[in-house]
Amino acid sequence: MPVEKINTVHSDILIIGAGPGGLACARVLAEHGRQVLVLERKQTIGAKVCAGGITWDGLINVVPESLIERAFCRQYVYSSRQKVLVAEKNPIIATINRKKLGQWMAQKALDSGAKILTGSRVTAIKGHTVLVRSSSGKRRTEITCQHLIGADGALSQVRKSLGIPVKLLGPGINYQLAAQAERMEWHLNTKHFGYGYGWIFPHRATVSIGAYCPCGTMSGKRLKQNLISWAAGKGYCLEKEKCQAAMINYDYQGYAFGTTWLVGDAAGLASGLTGEGIYPAIVSGDTVARKIIDPENSDRAITEMVNKQRQHHTVISLAKKHPALCSLLMETLIFMLKCKIINFHSLEMAAPKKK
Ligand SMILES: Cc1cc2nc3c(=O)[nH]c(=O)nc-3n(C[C@H](O)[C@H](O)[C@H](O)COP(=O)(O)OP(=O)(O)OC[C@H]3O[C@@H](n4cnc5c(N)ncnc54)[C@H](O)[C@@H]3O)c2cc1C
Repeated sequence: MPVEKINTVHSDILIIGAGPGGLACARVLAEHGRQVLVLERKQTIGAKVCAGGITWDGLINVVPESLIERAFCRQYVYSSRQKVLVAEKNPIIATINRKKLGQWMAQKALDSGAKILTGSRVTAIKGHTVLVRSSSGKRRTEITCQHLIGADGALSQVRKSLGIPVKLLGPGINYQLAAQAERMEWHLNTKHFGYGYGWIFPHRATVSIGAYCPCGTMSGKRLKQNLISWAAGKGYCLEKEKCQAAMINYDYQGYAFGTTWLVGDAAGLASGLTGEGIYPAIVSGDTVARKIIDPENSDRAITEMVNKQRQHHTVISLAKKHPALCSLLMETLIFMLKCKIINFHSLEMAAPKKK
């Protein structure tokens, strides 16, 4: 039997996953002269199941305005019985196209000197040795590294190799329709979404209609059925449209494990309440890179996000413990937004910036 030849290469820093977390990390490391290799299983960087909502406070300093599809100074939040309009002078949330964001971030990382290999799926990890298979399946390479960074999303293999289970994983479903919508809407409709929510996020030439719910609320299948029937009531027929689904990991158990690191969804840094994960991915990728460059560098940005995540988790835990009160909880949330007892920005993972 012929023995398959496996090439072995070494990279000082190996990042698995070219999502926003991995690319942010690669850029900073390469800017500081470190040898970085990013492995991405897909052929093309960027596309990801996502509503494309970014908080203005969180990402305005990170993405150029040209990437913004639409920006909204008004947010319409609905429960079963009430609605509240949150309006501000500056945009509160903007939508972006994930493919364009990915391409832009990849270019920045390449310009800084990082190497990115697409069509390269990691199939096995043993310590700091990683086995990679090309998408044609013909080429197998073994890569060794000094630092291994798991930026490989909610079902991270790097995290698995560390023996860290993911217990808090919520399903998210998105339909990207070729349609126009004017309002950015959030629907805390407990009948359809339990203690999750449905959304309508307008993009330039499309509209994202979707739903997310935290772990334990309902299955992805049920969420999809409920989304379809809820959207029909809003005049959107989703039955024949392409449905995209993915999980969101909000089970944070740490980011530094010796010289193995986790960022973004792999670290479980998304919000369990809203599913917001782009900002946490970019900020954690950036922070991990700076920690590798100089271990004395601060990780305050991650600590702040973890604190936000814990606040969001308190709301989920309350709803989970008292399902009968879930509807009341959502109505109270809307009422508090209406009376300005809580601020819309407290739902964001980023701390509000001064206007
Ligand atoms: C329906 C839905 C809607 C969402 N809407 C929003 C939103 O509006 N705003 C927001 O902020 N967040 C949203 N999110 C969450 C957001 O998409 C994620 O939190 C974010 O993409 C996490 O970034 P990341 O870099 O950590 O991981 P990812 O973006 O998941 O990137 C991981 C990368 O790793 C690659 N990879 C995985 N395994 C391997 C492997 N074995 N080998 C090589 N490569 C691998 C993947 O192909 C991928 O490119 C949504 C999520 C869902 C499911």
